[in-house]
Amino acid sequence: GQCRVVCPTGALMIKKDIDRAYEALQDRNKRVIAQIAPAVRVAIGEEFGMEPGAITTGKIVAALRKLGFDQIFDTAVGADLTVIEEAEELMERIQNREQQAKKGKPQAQFPLFSSCCPAWFKYAEQKHPDLMGHVSSCRSPQQMFGVVIKEEFKKLYKNDDKENVVIAIMPCTAKKFEAARPENSNNGIRDVDMVITTQELAIMIQQSGIVFGELEDEALDMPFGFTSGAGVIFGVSGGVSEAVLRYYFKEKNAATLQNISYSGVRGMEGVKEASVEIDGRNVRIGVVHGLKNAESLIKKIEKGEERFDFVEVMACPGGCIGGAGQPIPQNSDVRKKRAKGIYKVDKASPIKRSEDNPAIEALYSGILISNREILHRHKHKK
Ligand code: SF4
Repeated sequence: GQCRVVCPTGALMIKKDIDRAYEALQDRNKRVIAQIAPAVRVAIGEEFGMEPGAITTGKIVAALRKLGFDQIFDTAVGADLTVIEEAEELMERIQNREQQAKKGKPQAQFPLFSSCCPAWFKYAEQKHPDLMGHVSSCRSPQQMFGVVIKEEFKKLYKNDDKENVVIAIMPCTAKKFEAARPENSNNGIRDVDMVITTQELAIMIQQSGIVFGELEDEALDMPFGFTSGAGVIFGVSGGVSEAVLRYYFKEKNAATLQNISYSGVRGMEGVKEASVEIDGRNVRIGVVHGLKNAESLIKKIEKGEERFDFVEVMACPGGCIGGAGQPIPQNSDVRKKRAKGIYKVDKASPIKRSEDNPAIEALYSGILISNREILHRHKHKK
């Protein structure tokens, strides 16, 4: 198919990142590992004449193998880690507040804000430094997975001296800056070495003469070959909240999952609200996409007009499916179709919840057993 990538601005940076990726792929001393973000699989097909929302996970894996990647994983695994860490952080916070209230102490008016969108994170840092104590300590799925891959591979390949290079395939240009932040490196080595956008991967596929539409589906690699639906819905606004709610509701039946999906977290409105009952308490969740919507919600919270326990913020329209690294043109119709694709992947997924992912269980009883703080921005007090 014909590649429709058009990039009037930033062309030089794109070339630089693509060239760096090719360089790593050609270097025999490097083991190149990919992680693919959820939103990429429902959009990249558009560059090759497919409908928005067409699910192409298996084709992306096949294309990455042809490009020379050694191991291919799904960022949804990183999202599963984020779900568990963020859900526990939120519950701890709610319980602390209840104890404070019992002692008659004034309670924080602010909710816990999500931290996985770097554009929102940077905005909060610059415009609302006073709110930073309320932004989740969780690192993003990209960064959690990057550090986990590096740690696991250090153990798996302790007898060879190949350098492990993690390349994240992202719908997002802000993820490039996130990966470069100093706190996302360990002794000068980045947890995620490079970020390639959906558009950039499409260019690489086209340049290499791979006929994307004709590729046969291939499977992800072990030891992280399993993904959950909860991890995949991170790609759409409301997905983080829905995934966290799945973690709280322990009844593992279809009706519970459906009730959560009806709670108000789904849909394309700029601001959504959901109230759910968890262990006898009413938990209020806000979901916003677009920084303008985030700003007006913050104002309302400050004035005391709204009260939330958790607020999910994504900077792009519709969440990551509408990211700036995704194929263009983008409009609400395209985004709706991509979102539909994401929910279809979830529906077809035999594992719905993050904690049911066997790759996650293995990590918590493996490298994370005494090292869970690597999933957090600051050393986690536990
Ligand atoms: Fe990146 Fe946009 Fe997703 Fe934020 S919402 S992580 S800026 S693609």
